[in-house]
Amino acid sequence: KLHNTILELKGNIRVFCRVRPLLPDDGAITETTIISYPSSTEALGRSIDMIQSGQKHSFTFDKVFTYEAAQQDVFVEISQLVQSALDGYKVCIFAYGQTGSGKTYTMMGSPEDPEQKGLIPRSLEQIFQTSQSLLPQGWKYKMQASMLEIYNETIRDLLSTNRSGGSDLLRTDNGVVGKQYAIKHDANGNTHVSDLTIVDVCSIKEVSSLLRQAAQSRSVGKTQMNEQSSRSHFVFTLRIFGVNESTEQQVQGVLNLIDLAGSERLSKSGSTGDRLKETQAINKSLSSLSDVIFALAKKEEHVPFRNSKLTYLLQPCLGGDSKTLMFVNISPDPSSVGESLCSLRFAARVN
Ligand code: ADP
Ligand code: MG
Repeated sequence: KLHNTILELKGNIRVFCRVRPLLPDDGAITETTIISYPSSTEALGRSIDMIQSGQKHSFTFDKVFTYEAAQQDVFVEISQLVQSALDGYKVCIFAYGQTGSGKTYTMMGSPEDPEQKGLIPRSLEQIFQTSQSLLPQGWKYKMQASMLEIYNETIRDLLSTNRSGGSDLLRTDNGVVGKQYAIKHDANGNTHVSDLTIVDVCSIKEVSSLLRQAAQSRSVGKTQMNEQSSRSHFVFTLRIFGVNESTEQQVQGVLNLIDLAGSERLSKSGSTGDRLKETQAINKSLSSLSDVIFALAKKEEHVPFRNSKLTYLLQPCLGGDSKTLMFVNISPDPSSVGESLCSLRFAARVN
């Protein structure tokens, strides 16, 4: 492992908070319900206060991005973490928060827009550029991409070329069930998901077209299954294999970029049937994720990876000497203040 130091100092788990700007459809900010950043008036600080009905709640994170932080300001703070995947680390970056809080904007943004593009396109650009720049030192890299979504504890391959509209559902006598996509981890800490499409990628152009294909496949699934993308977890995985032809050093890194399902709680009385099942699946996987990160941070002996598909899938990339960053995305809309407090408390627990 080559040139990475910064994250070594404080353990392997970081939490960044990002508050999106107020949008035209949001309610007006009032004095009893307000977000403030006591230590900084600029784009980046460390603490955030939330005032709900006149009562102040204070939180501190590794970083707090205010509504003034541009996509590039955010990327600057994670580029070293992305870099460490090229050095052979396993890296996970999550976006957590209620629907409408800016998770997809943070992770994907508008991939074709130089200002608005998010962490996924920026990270990929950096990885391909850096791997090129390491060529003169003898480093050759091979990269593989896969993209999947986890909906109701079922994996869906977003790069499947299967013509049934990109969906891998099988019909049985009992109705529709998902393909199994069995998850296995080998002794070297590599994850294998049976039947999952894995594509060799050599350039940012190739990955960009896969990202478009995945987005297309997600929206097809949406209408077929009456599902919204905000109800599923999106997992982008880039596997990186590097070999130095002069020194014969080898590295294997993984970069996982995850846009989580919306964390909002539906009112219990209002949700029945499929909606209730969805909500239970989301709550289960998000609380499993919190339990896993919490157990890892506390260096507990038993880490409950197997309690959800998401944590089991990512097991090798969450434990050991891997590096995890959680974005907690916050909406400044006063009507979201309850959900925002829930998100901040969730993040404070794993921080
Ligand atoms: P989520 O994925 O959490 O449901 P989105 O990323 O779709 O939320 O964001 C909701 C809306 O807010 C979108 O219209 C998005 O463009 C906008 N938005 C989110 N974050 C920002 C930001 N930092 N700056 C400007 N607009 C943002
Ligand atoms: Mg989204």
